[in-house]
Amino acid sequence: MKLPELLAPAGDLNRMKYAFAYGADAVYAGQPAFSLRARENGFKNLDDLAEGIKYAHALGKKFYLTSNVIPRNVKVESFQKALLSAIDLGPDALIVADPGFVGWLRQVRPEVEIHLSVQANTTNYLTAKFWHDLGVRRVILSRELRLSEITEIKAHNPNLELEVFVHGAVCMSMSGRCMLSNWVTRRDANQGACDNSCRMPYRLYANPEPQCENYHEHEGEFSLQRTDRPELDPIALDEDTWGTYFMSSRDICAIDVIPDLMAAGLDSFKIEGRTKSVYYLSQVVRSYRMAIDSCAAQMEQGVETVKIPDEVHRAISFVDGRGFMPGFLRGPLPQNYESTHEDAPGGCVAAQVVAYDSEAHACRVNVKNPFSLDDPLDLMTPSGQFPCEILSMKNFKGTDVDCLHPGTEGWVFLPENVNVPTENANFFFFVKRKA
Ligand code: SF4
Repeated sequence: MKLPELLAPAGDLNRMKYAFAYGADAVYAGQPAFSLRARENGFKNLDDLAEGIKYAHALGKKFYLTSNVIPRNVKVESFQKALLSAIDLGPDALIVADPGFVGWLRQVRPEVEIHLSVQANTTNYLTAKFWHDLGVRRVILSRELRLSEITEIKAHNPNLELEVFVHGAVCMSMSGRCMLSNWVTRRDANQGACDNSCRMPYRLYANPEPQCENYHEHEGEFSLQRTDRPELDPIALDEDTWGTYFMSSRDICAIDVIPDLMAAGLDSFKIEGRTKSVYYLSQVVRSYRMAIDSCAAQMEQGVETVKIPDEVHRAISFVDGRGFMPGFLRGPLPQNYESTHEDAPGGCVAAQVVAYDSEAHACRVNVKNPFSLDDPLDLMTPSGQFPCEILSMKNFKGTDVDCLHPGTEGWVFLPENVNVPTENANFFFFVKRKA
């Protein structure tokens, strides 16, 4: 059977290398100045793109260029010029949102593969066919769709590649063209400058003066009510120490829907998060790689009810976020929640290995979270995550210590029987399990 592509975000060259090491088939990276992560994009210029494309192709993997701003008139010519220069570097596809640019690219560079960005909001089979007829090779479907709707779109367009988001953050407007960031901070989300206004904490103040004398006694007990629809349930406005997050959506985690998505014959499973840490990226890619490979093996054996192995659930339990939901794939779910962060239930990254000395059995580490000699630790590698005892530790001055602290570097010494595959040691992490 044809496996779906596992598509990972590449916020910069380093993240791209981790994504490939942990099993991504392809990455997407932002076109400098013209993707929807323009401010945070680590691919700053054409040289960075050229290096990324060369690295991906040397591994036999794919590199897609995200060029999905919604340009105004003033940007049209500069965007066209930038696109032509980027195309010359040989990315495997361009991810484009603007219909005018899709049409223009089909005219001037018909050989270039175009993937229609989620930003174009494709929600039905007729729209999908429209884009396919125009020469678009792949459509990245809106996140609002249910699995049954996606299956129907595929049935009507069997030769059109379909890509779905399976993991990561979603903005409150899901696949829309939001103006919230423009309104709150004057940063235009559709030009790549979103401030994530929906995910930020908000405080409720009475204006200009508190409405009642004991206003502060009511803190944390407010709710929003639609004045025009009093029959609707009020939205609770809970506050934590920082404020309330009433517009912030839970993150998608569709790991349990993978068997159904594979059975539907979809072409690409996309992970969101070009700004996430290398550890987050590695653990998420590893989880979905294992899920896809396991489902494929079960399907080939003719297993009737394909199951996601416990090992996959364990791996994803080491990833934090805003609380998970399966998106709309299994039907509408409430998106909002009360906190901006939920700790990963399984544990967290302790340190990123930056070098390995095979003679001393020592890992030079960049510490991400505090950990001590007594903590239950795993070593996470591209070939698996397994418990790993440590013998001793030194801080960046070379002094023996019992504990290492975030933001510092140090050394971790392993027992001789721990077999570290040295060629890949740059991609390792120590993970601290929850007791
Ligand atoms: S403010 Fe939120 S909803 Fe709007 S584009 Fe940014 S992330 Fe999406």
